[in-house]
Amino acid sequence: MPTIDDVADFLKHFAPVDLAEDWDNVGLLVGDRLRDVGRVMTCLTITPSTAAEAIQQQADLIVTHHPMPFQPLRRLTTETTAGRLLLDLIAARIAVYSPHTAFDSAPEGINQRLAAGLGLRGIWPLVPGESGQSRSGAGRWGWLAEPLSLEQLAQRVKQFLAIERLQLVGDPGQTVRTVAVACGAAGEFLEAAQAEGCDCMLTGETRFHTCLEAEAAGIGLLLPGHFASERFAVECLADVLAGQFSELEVWASRHERDPLSWI
Ligand SMILES: [Zn+2]
Repeated sequence: MPTIDDVADFLKHFAPVDLAEDWDNVGLLVGDRLRDVGRVMTCLTITPSTAAEAIQQQADLIVTHHPMPFQPLRRLTTETTAGRLLLDLIAARIAVYSPHTAFDSAPEGINQRLAAGLGLRGIWPLVPGESGQSRSGAGRWGWLAEPLSLEQLAQRVKQFLAIERLQLVGDPGQTVRTVAVACGAAGEFLEAAQAEGCDCMLTGETRFHTCLEAEAAGIGLLLPGHFASERFAVECLADVLAGQFSELEVWASRHERDPLSWI
């Protein structure tokens, strides 16, 4: 039976920790490396609902895309949500690993999967990593085999992410040949997308002023929501872990939901 350390070691190579942003908190965040692990749950975020599911399902390890803890902790008490959840997980002896921006940027990471899922060709990082590896770095961009209208591309995004609605900036009829993608809240990549001459950028969510900047620059924006832009990859991560460790029971959280409703 693998140990927490065996799984952590695999993950730190699958989503290389040197690709994580400086401000991030990635790797094994809670747990005893020497303990055996049999049951692993992946999720986007540790919330009361996903923590309860992990405890109820007797997980030994949660692989959560978003780190918990994220901010440095001076105390661990039940006075904060993070404190309550962490104390509950520790009491249930559940370890926590977070790959976060290392997974965003990895060669088989979220942005690569988003770009491939939209059918992009010639996929390249928007901001290449320092390692010089051509396939890793932040965001991705590439070109469509056939030009689409922004609206047609929006339909393709909805289909790939299995969502019914998204937000759009720009003229739905404008022609799109090159597309940038950056999962989560990544409006800061607009400049890099512009520098690559992209006609459109997909990111989960962004600020109003970034929408105005995109509109002024004539770049279409597709905003499917932070949750939808990343949650699909948590399911891929469960498959990757199950493929690597046949002894493990691995599942993507079944209770996890977008906290935002689209009505
Ligand atoms: Zn995120």
